[in-house]
Amino acid sequence: MKNNLKSLPNELGYFGVYGGRQIPPELVSIFEAIEKEYLIAKEDKEFQAEYQTLLRDYVGRPSPLYLAQNLTAKIGGAKIYLKREDLNHTGAHKINHTLGEALLAKRLGKKKLLAETGAGQHGVALATAAALVGLECEIHMGKIDILKQAPNVARMKILGAKVVTVKSGGRCLKDAVDSAFEAFVKNPQETFFGIGSVVGPHPFPMIVRDFQSVVGREARVQILERENRLPDYLVACVGGGSNAIGLFHEFLGDEEVKMIGVEPSGRGFGLGEHAATLTLGKPGNIHGMFTYLLQDENGVPLPVHSIASGLDYPGVGPVHADLKDKGRVVYETINDQEALAAFLELSRTEGIIPALESAHALAYALKLAASLPKEQIIIVNLSGRGDKDVDFVVENMNI
Ligand SMILES: *Cc1c(COP(=O)(O)O)cnc(C)c1O
Repeated sequence: MKNNLKSLPNELGYFGVYGGRQIPPELVSIFEAIEKEYLIAKEDKEFQAEYQTLLRDYVGRPSPLYLAQNLTAKIGGAKIYLKREDLNHTGAHKINHTLGEALLAKRLGKKKLLAETGAGQHGVALATAAALVGLECEIHMGKIDILKQAPNVARMKILGAKVVTVKSGGRCLKDAVDSAFEAFVKNPQETFFGIGSVVGPHPFPMIVRDFQSVVGREARVQILERENRLPDYLVACVGGGSNAIGLFHEFLGDEEVKMIGVEPSGRGFGLGEHAATLTLGKPGNIHGMFTYLLQDENGVPLPVHSIASGLDYPGVGPVHADLKDKGRVVYETINDQEALAAFLELSRTEGIIPALESAHALAYALKLAASLPKEQIIIVNLSGRGDKDVDFVVENMNI
């Protein structure tokens, strides 16, 4: 039986009970205009042709689906395929939705793209799209992340973006989101908030999901060509959840395909030591949406940690909250040490240096593959490349 999960959200922006649009009344018309224009653009052949051409010629899509033979042989269990989003222009999946957002912003007559960034990957991807499409760009980034991700800060500046240092709160992704939102509210007519994942108020979780779903559409065709059947498992890391839903979406109706989202358990399950939102959080409100949230008894978001900056967010996209409650996707955790071990394992076994975010998905997939027979197939979303992480890993691993 086919389920109807692919048709969500409903017209109010709800995935089951999650999502929605909690924003100040003065912003409602702005978000409604974005939603209206997006729905027109989605059906507009010219808009879609421009986007698809850029995905092909600028991003380099389709990204390969690579059978990691060395790794598969070494583990001795299920076949491990990698969806190579690390090979995209700018080195991660994020360019898939930032390009779409930039084209939409231009269509809406906006002047500037504005956003927060954690690992710097979203900032680089948005600054890239802004440069290409011809828009100004302003990126808010936590001070701690700025120190950890200096090369990405340099890239954004080279691409012509203004980088704003956020010194409030924990000085990480969540604080950068707050800071960027404040800046947006000051000039919402001319600014487009280029949200970096499947999070925030409706229609963003839907828009970003739609732009990312190219990943799963390609993977489905590629695995059918290679294996003449669907995979048994899909595995992807979950920060806000865009690369995960990007891979999962096209397969949601295929009930034989099991899906696992991997969250970071960081240094452990103590307060402030992890960002395992779906594993340990409870439903609440953050950044304009109702979703699972790591929160204190007053609903205030808790501090979070992951060795991968792109995963340290106390909320999660509402689509994942719904998929968890409905049991369609299972959410597991991988800690910092396990992610580091997988980072080195892939580097040394296949000659592919993954992003620390992606290493979480890989670490889980390695354990899973070992427990499965050889006929089974796992597709791991290799969401990004590890160039941005090499200095940090060398400092922390004694290599
Ligand atoms: C940002 C990022 C993530 C986490 O974001 P999602 O929205 O959960 O996909 C994962 N991997 C890489 C490489 C990233 O840059």
